[in-house]
Amino acid sequence: MFDSLSDRLGGVFDKLRGRGALKEQDVRDAMREVRIALLEADVALPVVRRFVDQVTEKAIGQSVLRSVTPGQQVVKIVNDALVEMLGGDTTPELDLNAAPPVVIMMVGLQGSGKTTSTAKISKFLKDKQGKKVLMASLDVNRPAAQEQLKVLGEQVGVATLPIIAGQQPTEIATRALQSAKLQAVDVLLLDTAGRLHVDQQLMDEMKAVSAISSPRETLLVVDSLTGQDAVNVAQSFSGEVDLTGVVLTRMDGDARGGAALSMRAVTGKPIKFAGTGEKPEAIEIFHPSRVANRILGMGDVVSLVEKAAESVKVEEAEALAKRMEQGKFDMNDLRMQLKQMQNMGGLGMLANMMPGMKKAKAAMAASNMDDKVLVRMDAIIGSMTPKERTNPALLNAKRKIRVAKGSGTQVQDINKLIKMHQEMSKAMKQIKKMGGLKGLAAMFGK
Ligand code: GDP
Repeated sequence: MFDSLSDRLGGVFDKLRGRGALKEQDVRDAMREVRIALLEADVALPVVRRFVDQVTEKAIGQSVLRSVTPGQQVVKIVNDALVEMLGGDTTPELDLNAAPPVVIMMVGLQGSGKTTSTAKISKFLKDKQGKKVLMASLDVNRPAAQEQLKVLGEQVGVATLPIIAGQQPTEIATRALQSAKLQAVDVLLLDTAGRLHVDQQLMDEMKAVSAISSPRETLLVVDSLTGQDAVNVAQSFSGEVDLTGVVLTRMDGDARGGAALSMRAVTGKPIKFAGTGEKPEAIEIFHPSRVANRILGMGDVVSLVEKAAESVKVEEAEALAKRMEQGKFDMNDLRMQLKQMQNMGGLGMLANMMPGMKKAKAAMAASNMDDKVLVRMDAIIGSMTPKERTNPALLNAKRKIRVAKGSGTQVQDINKLIKMHQEMSKAMKQIKKMGGLKGLAAMFGK
């Protein structure tokens, strides 16, 4: 899976990794090769462009963390962008939150692996999630399609709806629903008729089945070996029915990965499963981060950089704690602390943990602080001169107006911030009187 893309990218990063310092030109050269690698992998051109621009901008703009090489950091940036391209940090789960029987409608072109995937997902739901599953084939066009599902059902130990010759797809769907209700089935999978290409009659049939069965999930099965065609098919289907996700089959044979890499960005639809072979258990939940790792094969570097980023946060926090113990607390410190707060995901926590912070907390509450406010405060401090930051007393009316303009805020926002800074530095002085704060650094580091 992804072998040739992996090799290409591996070569690019091997060149970068050993370097102690990276010049802008190094990054640009590397990205030119990444661009070629992605295009050779048959990734859609606009997706490649966006990817390369995003990575280049980040790689050039970012300051390098201590204890990792710039090359390693670029690997991490590329990794993160790949995860994003594949669908983001969260794994798209099947949504089965509805009154049973929850219906999953399978759609796709003939030969894409639809019937096989129907059986694979049924087996997955039965074995991994303990669901009672029923499958029904609505394919009356292809002779023996219903029979094929029946055989697969026997193979994986999942019940199939008995075949009644001559019934139309909507009749079969209605019967399947009734039967699923009677048998207290948790999940009903409807394997709709395949089609050679997107044609109106079959689209209408699919819509009629959808209207009758109100599927919770409508999964489109596409063959990853068809590359950009798979993405185009997904686009034409999503124009007709409300697709909730994609099943990408034959990933086991896909050395390029263009369909997997473009699908989300082009269609907006998440890949939920990857078919990885002919056997009924050859199906995997599509975890973007794991797939990115498989493509880059550099999980070790990625976690190294993550750890380095963590330890920098701890070092910053320790430096801040030291200054606080000395009773020093200027706008730079406040800014750093606001950043810490954002990282820690919330304000209340810090304020509660610190002694002598009641007033500062009240000032925060008065300014109605939420994440947006944190961002605004950061902008305000960013608009101050270095001198004003170390000595906020300099901020007279005229300077306040300048800062407000620079940060796109109002003078009263500046006043609120100054008030908060005053309360906090008072608190810091109290802390100093109380003999400093042991363990504060550890607290910040979390
Ligand atoms: P349908 O016409 O869309 O229902 O396609 P089928 O389910 O009948 O599959 C067509 C062929 O593709 C069969 O021979 C399957 O064994 C094969 N197939 C399906 N999924 C995969 C997969 O993920 N990997 C591989 N290697 N073969 C697959």
